[in-house]
Amino acid sequence: MSALKNLDEIVSCLTGYDPEAMSVAQAQSVIHTLCSPLATELAVESVPVRSALGRILARDLISPFNVPSHTNAAMDGYAFDSRCLDTTRTEIRLRPVGEAYAGRGFDGRCGEGECVRIMTGAVMPEGCDTVIPQEFTEVQGSEVVFLQRAVRPCDNRRLAGEDLAQGMPALRQGRRIRPADLGLAASLGRAELAVRRPLRVAFFSTGNELRSVGEPLDPGCVYDSNRYTIFGMLARLGVEVVDMGVVPDDPEALELAFRRAAASADAVVTSGGVSVGEADHTRAMMARLGDVAFWRIAMRPGRPMAFGRIWADRPGSGQSAVLFGLPGNPVAVMVTFYVFVRQGLMAMCGESLDGAPCIQAISAESIQKKPGRTEYRRGQMFVDDQGRAAVRTTGGQGSGILRSMSDANCLIVLHHDSAHIAQGSAVEVLPFDGLV
Ligand code: AMP
Ligand code: MG
Repeated sequence: MSALKNLDEIVSCLTGYDPEAMSVAQAQSVIHTLCSPLATELAVESVPVRSALGRILARDLISPFNVPSHTNAAMDGYAFDSRCLDTTRTEIRLRPVGEAYAGRGFDGRCGEGECVRIMTGAVMPEGCDTVIPQEFTEVQGSEVVFLQRAVRPCDNRRLAGEDLAQGMPALRQGRRIRPADLGLAASLGRAELAVRRPLRVAFFSTGNELRSVGEPLDPGCVYDSNRYTIFGMLARLGVEVVDMGVVPDDPEALELAFRRAAASADAVVTSGGVSVGEADHTRAMMARLGDVAFWRIAMRPGRPMAFGRIWADRPGSGQSAVLFGLPGNPVAVMVTFYVFVRQGLMAMCGESLDGAPCIQAISAESIQKKPGRTEYRRGQMFVDDQGRAAVRTTGGQGSGILRSMSDANCLIVLHHDSAHIAQGSAVEVLPFDGLV
């Protein structure tokens, strides 16, 4: 318990904290403060390098040697000592005295007036510091000839340790492992990596009107789509998911579900039940379960949200989980997840937060917006006829219209203080997908 920060302590440090009028930035900062990484001693495991893809590195990976281990040739050609590059001569003539291949070097010494035929990756022979690429040379009898200006001293060699220097961190802890990192670890001869155990995240939907897929759709009911989008977003974060199904708007059933979630997971994500009409009974229950704030955030979509920590048994002791109580509307769920839950869970996973990549694009249309709240529009980025990154909205922007989210490839972020956006002006976008 002592390691856990208390919500009241956190918000007491904020100037002008008003749960009824939170800015996005203020909510993010409270979430970031409360969501600390799981204790390392409980949360680290060693896995084969390939299984570390997408996982969070738990310890710095220190390079035990130089990579490359020897200075070697970056091109096929001839290795020689650059001191022979006499600028008064236009042509250099050298005598080949041997060959060096990758994995099988030249054992002798290359002396004055001599060169060694060398292949890419071969260790630079003793006495050589430069490689003249094959295509700039000509063999004339027993000599290799090339123009003096075709090469400068130390060209076309790779220095020992230029990729990774011995004793330096090749990868920092907190990093989400990507394909290049697997190769980097392998280049250090590592068979295993220490990664953080995946966070366990329970989620459920609330609402009497919800039906699960496979059930008949009664009049006035809707299928529960949030459990699918939440599943997808959690799976993309690489967490372990615990799907707790649909819980009706019944205080006893809800309380039981929250307690079970707190007992089995590190974090809980719910949807619905936090809007004005429904928050009252949830509030009373949360007061029994733990330390949860109900916020009205100056944003669109996604205004109401509950956030804090709940305990399985008694507030303050035993098993607990961080709670993200998201609004019920399908698009609001996704936007609040990307804006708040994602960074909270990443922090709990021990992942270094370098912020989601925001890029600038030209708005292909004018967008109405009032200052005083952050708005997120579903957008489609494209390259305009002048070759610039541009973006347009994807149709119906109601917070229940999931199709426009599915059609989108980015969110357009209209900042708190900004007003009406004129067509052709720059806006910030958060792309959904990256290359790796
Ligand atoms: P609420 O926040 O519970 O008042 O829900 C707001 C709107 O979102 C209502 O129209 C709900 O029917 C809808 N909604 C809530 N939960 C879900 C869900 N899991 N799947 C689809 N729609 C939902
Ligand atoms: Mg509801």
